[in-house]
Amino acid sequence: MLTENLQRVRERMQRACAHVGRDPASLLLVGVTKGRTAEQVREALACGLTELGENRVQEAQEKITALSGASARWHLIGHLQRNKVKRAVELFQVIQSVDSFALAEALEKQMDARAQDILEVFVQVNVSGEATKFGCTPDEAPMLAQHVAALPHLRVRGFMTIAPLVDDPESARPIFRRLRELRDTVNGAFQLSMGMSHDFDVAIEEGADCIRVGTALFGA
Ligand SMILES: *Cc1c(COP(=O)(O)O)cnc(C)c1O
Repeated sequence: MLTENLQRVRERMQRACAHVGRDPASLLLVGVTKGRTAEQVREALACGLTELGENRVQEAQEKITALSGASARWHLIGHLQRNKVKRAVELFQVIQSVDSFALAEALEKQMDARAQDILEVFVQVNVSGEATKFGCTPDEAPMLAQHVAALPHLRVRGFMTIAPLVDDPESARPIFRRLRELRDTVNGAFQLSMGMSHDFDVAIEEGADCIRVGTALFGA
């Protein structure tokens, strides 16, 4: 089932790219494995997915430990609590949910202590302004990105956002567009991590570089 789902996701990616004249090879597909078993993760790796996302440190740790030796790049896509920072830098190569300078500083401190060179991060922006979502405000984003970029062990890859869950993916378009416009004013080289199973087509049309896909790959 995963093989066919992956095929379908890749076709959707290609179609969305074709709509706007983008090269599908420039897109990063992160397979979101939260709620899936280590066995399913192994299957995903066998299908050629190499970048995987989890939203909880504890759950990721159990899986990554169970998979010992399998090579993958792990992205943390959920909120990171300060007391989990140490474990997070041990497990993840990319933290997509940096939403405050205090968190960035805590990550920097851990990276320095581990004598590790670079942790890749995205600054999470709460574009929709929903109270239930984490992320800095769009107004705070330029300054936060600038401050995080000055930390020697952190490399800012770009901005991440989560659009509101709505039936019609078209209604997420203004959210994606707003993040792209923000990126254009802050740093044209920043990547955009946006788009999930139901709305990644629209996100790609609006400039997503990284999409995070769970249910479209692994089922509901
Ligand atoms: C769960 C999750 C996803 C994947 O969602 P699907 O709708 O299953 O594709 C993407 N991003 C974040 C931040 C998530 O928590």
